[in-house]
Amino acid sequence: MNIAVIGTGYVGLVSGVCYAELGNHVICVDNDPRKIDMLNDGEIPIYEPGLKELAATNREEGRLAFTADLSSAVIHSDIIILAVGTPPLPNGEANLDYINQAAIEVAEAMNSYKIITVKSTVPVGTNERLAQLIRLHTNKPFDSISLPEFLREGSAIQDTLKPDRIIIGAECQRAAAIMVELHKPLTENIVVTDIRSAEMIKYASNAFLATKISFINEIANICEKVGADVTQVADGMGYDKRIGPSFLKAGIGYGGSCFPKDTSALIQIAGNVDYEFKLLRSVVEVNQDQRFNVIRKLKTVFDGELQGKVVAIWGLAFKPNTDDVRDSPALEIIQYLVDHGVIVKAYDPVALHSFQSLFGIGDVIWCNEALETAQDADALCLLTEWEEFASVDLLELQKVLKQPILIDGRNVFKEEDLIDTDFIYYSVGRPNLN
Ligand code: NAD
Repeated sequence: MNIAVIGTGYVGLVSGVCYAELGNHVICVDNDPRKIDMLNDGEIPIYEPGLKELAATNREEGRLAFTADLSSAVIHSDIIILAVGTPPLPNGEANLDYINQAAIEVAEAMNSYKIITVKSTVPVGTNERLAQLIRLHTNKPFDSISLPEFLREGSAIQDTLKPDRIIIGAECQRAAAIMVELHKPLTENIVVTDIRSAEMIKYASNAFLATKISFINEIANICEKVGADVTQVADGMGYDKRIGPSFLKAGIGYGGSCFPKDTSALIQIAGNVDYEFKLLRSVVEVNQDQRFNVIRKLKTVFDGELQGKVVAIWGLAFKPNTDDVRDSPALEIIQYLVDHGVIVKAYDPVALHSFQSLFGIGDVIWCNEALETAQDADALCLLTEWEEFASVDLLELQKVLKQPILIDGRNVFKEEDLIDTDFIYYSVGRPNLN
């Protein structure tokens, strides 16, 4: 099939490359010429394991191209996939300016019948509204498809090529059948729904996962007070098939470009129809507070006095294996520390530059290596569970720190790892060691 993917970010780029890998002809479009130049030079603007190699193979085999020329991509394609950003507005609602603009540009370029597919996460009713918008700008025929995306950054290729399910929201059966055909090689679990239900499935899924995370974080906070160990609790809970083991990892809360914005958007979607989503409001509130656990623990070890302390931060990305720092807990934690007179040294294996472009480069000592970051620090806070941190030599680490204080925001280390060390160790929902 001939496919144009509009928006070459985390979702559009991975999807485009993977559709090409299935044997389709794919043109990926972006209106950021810098991204297109990089891609045409064989570089990948984001960090995603395996993506560079897969993109290169598909380009060499003539199935994948990159362009800033949306119009020619639309003309040469039968299926148009919109994968532009839908970032949050200050009130929590999704900003639909990019997708509106992309839809208008697609409409104006249309030369014949197209299937117009929305992969971006959009509020319920958006596909219908976009169809009206497109009709205002073209008299060519088209069908709308809602194709919500569930990939996770860091394992995006695996998630795209072996998804748990594909959701296809459609009104037209013929267009739905073409989309089923396109996705058949990926999974047997293809669910065809009406368009509004497909849009809702995406928000409901992310809200549910966010709820699981906030739930286990609250259990962790109680565990700390009653002397239980949340990792054992989660393990014991996870064997119950009705609960399942995933998303029961206590930590400093979720971040990233999806859960925070999609939970806020769903609260707004509910509010717009006079429904107060009380449960989800609490999930968001718990998550917001959870990141400050790290600060509370630092205050405990320093008897409330943070001013002038040197604190090392390991991990800036919202999770490992990505350079995405959008809504990363590290942003707020570091800002709080800087505002309270702490000298912050920070390091991340891949997300340093993307973090600096959001946070700014002043106020923090940026480091290029984990032990260098910890050198002479009064405490170390681990905020992202990169493999590199888990395999560090703890005795070496203890030697370089001024004080052996380790706040492990992701429960990376086990008690036995610390047995021969003098660390004062705080984690999440587990007994402290000191
Ligand atoms: P992103 O910001 O990384 O990428 C969006 C891209 O679209 C940018 O490169 C931008 O330049 C481009 N763009 C914007 N307007 C354009 C236009 N008119 N023409 C051409 N290009 C245009 O966003 P993302 O993280 O890939 O997310 C895209 C959508 O997918 C969002 O709705 C998001 O909620 C959803 N989603 C994201 C993830 C994720 O893990 N990132 C997972 C599932 C769903």
